Amino acid sequence: MIGSVGVGGDEPIRVQSMTTTDTGDVEATALQTLRLAEAGCEIVRVTVPNMADAQALGAYRARLEQLGVTVPIVADIHFNPAAALFAADFVEKVRVNPGNYADSKRFAVREYSDGEYAAEIDRIRERFAPLVEKCRRLGRALRIGTNHGSLSDRIMNRHGDSPLGMVESALEFVRICRELGCHDLVLSMKSSNPFVAIQAYRLLAERMAAEGMDYPFHLGVTEAGGGEDGRVKSAIGIGSLLAEGLGDTVRVSLTEDPCLEIPVAQALVLPYNRAREAARVGGVPSMADARPARAYERRLTDEIAIGSTRAGGERRVQVWCDLGAASSGALALAERARELVTATPTDDPLADVAHVRLEREADLAAIEAVRPALWQHDGTRPLAVTATADLLASPAALDRTIAAASILVVGPAGRDAVGWTAGVSRAAAAARRAGKAFGVEIDASAVSPAHAALDPDEALARSAADAVAAARESTGELPLLAVLPPPTWNPGRAVRLACELLDRRGMGRAPLLLVDASAADSGCAAPLLETATRLGGLLADGYGDVVRVEACDSRDAVARAFGVLQATRLRMSRPDYISCPSCGRTLFDLEETTARIQAATGHLKGVKIAIMGCIVNGPGEMADADFGYVGSSPGKVNLYVRKDCVEKNIPMQDADRRLIELIKAHGRWQEPRAAPVAG
Ligand code: SF4
Repeated sequence: MIGSVGVGGDEPIRVQSMTTTDTGDVEATALQTLRLAEAGCEIVRVTVPNMADAQALGAYRARLEQLGVTVPIVADIHFNPAAALFAADFVEKVRVNPGNYADSKRFAVREYSDGEYAAEIDRIRERFAPLVEKCRRLGRALRIGTNHGSLSDRIMNRHGDSPLGMVESALEFVRICRELGCHDLVLSMKSSNPFVAIQAYRLLAERMAAEGMDYPFHLGVTEAGGGEDGRVKSAIGIGSLLAEGLGDTVRVSLTEDPCLEIPVAQALVLPYNRAREAARVGGVPSMADARPARAYERRLTDEIAIGSTRAGGERRVQVWCDLGAASSGALALAERARELVTATPTDDPLADVAHVRLEREADLAAIEAVRPALWQHDGTRPLAVTATADLLASPAALDRTIAAASILVVGPAGRDAVGWTAGVSRAAAAARRAGKAFGVEIDASAVSPAHAALDPDEALARSAADAVAAARESTGELPLLAVLPPPTWNPGRAVRLACELLDRRGMGRAPLLLVDASAADSGCAAPLLETATRLGGLLADGYGDVVRVEACDSRDAVARAFGVLQATRLRMSRPDYISCPSCGRTLFDLEETTARIQAATGHLKGVKIAIMGCIVNGPGEMADADFGYVGSSPGKVNLYVRKDCVEKNIPMQDADRRLIELIKAHGRWQEPRAAPVAG
């Protein structure tokens, strides 16, 4: 329990956030807490960097009482055990960072013998035990909150800057709590890189299971930034873990008003909370569904040529633009195709391949008419056609579709699930004879009767593997494979099962097309988050050579696909901004400064720029940024190149210019493209 709010077990997944005010400013902090509680925030964290802030907590609680705010409060502690001990009297939970609770960072490189390491743990126990004992006595909870960027020298030297280091860092503290009989614990493994966060949480689940522990998890991606990028990064990290049954409370960190974090967090947890409420049983993911933890490694597949482009292997992940159904007519398709191939003033990235769905022979003329629009401006943009197996049963329709398409994808079964695999085989052979690429897109309608009694994901995976085998037998080559899962809690499971099955059968590695049709199917309320969750979890596990998002608006669908690839860093089409959410330590207006720096550098594709509010945690948390802009004291900024501070205490009014000079000096600057002249 965190005060009156249960976390873990059958409790709903809780939404929490953190104030951005100076905690010593009691009135501002209390009013922001009130606003957060009114927005639906169930647990509020406040920063307590020093004794003065800890001493302000009494007045803060009194003011909350006057305002009628009953939400549990968490004190966020870094470096300051004395402040933690004092704060425990006034809050329901204390968060400590095991990387800096008992250690200050010296970046010392040294070997620790086992004896020296054990002595270090004794030293930590001595410093941490008073807080643990006080929390146990007062019924306070503790969060052991590891951050990727602030691991102790001890952990860094033994385990490196790695998910294993993050997990070990937390477990050292957890073991001390357990020895002292303190079990109201919540654990977190945050990183600004969603892949690192996902791996660390999975590894923590494995290690806890091995040691017989089952403490709740607090999920979050740190320094995610703001706007769409921040939401996508958070959804990838948080959403994909929730789909695996990991996570009991979430915080979405955005460089924005913290109240804006709440609807994002609520949208991510809502499906799982509804399911828990309705069923409290099967169908809802549990920890047993968690994926094994392993470092990111792309699942290397066979390469295929799609018109003038290639997909699979080590090629960059392709984006397909869905133009919709051929039945929408030649004019509508051509209009959408023109949007696809015409560069925009905002320099949005363009999709690699256009995609059309075909169900009736009568619509073939519309597909044939769209070709000229795809061949404008910058060459020969390939066209993918997904046609139903029913339609392709007609030899004439099959030949015309192959002639019009750069890649023919045999789509869902239509009426004839029994003959679907044979249809795949026939169509693949015809495409191969014509020198065209081919693919298979399977959904529940094509599940073979032989597998129908299995669980839906497994039935789909087996039917997909059968279709791949049939295509390979008739052509000697592997098709592009898309598995459209039923609407389940873990949309990636069927895809993973199909790939594992193909591996087990020694079938080779078919390139994978990941499709997100969630928004097109259901008019989903938060399509961006849904896309990020559905595709991000698979991409984080190395699956995916092509991404296709379906939506009413083709440009929006393409933007979402690129947004997910940007957040996963698999294909960067703009700079990556790592900015902290700000807190009471922040030394400048983060939102305004971030917006200013984004305006000046938004054209620097692939450059990673960190904007952090303070030097206490900023340099550690900005992880792998190329350049860093970090508040050093009021009105002053330090600039970093990677982890090295290269300019100290620059007046803020000069800092933007000096950052740009630094980027230029390191050869990463390009001049922005001139805006097109009207008329
Ligand atoms: S980097 Fe500093 S200012 Fe930003 S959230 Fe972390 S502690 Fe607060």
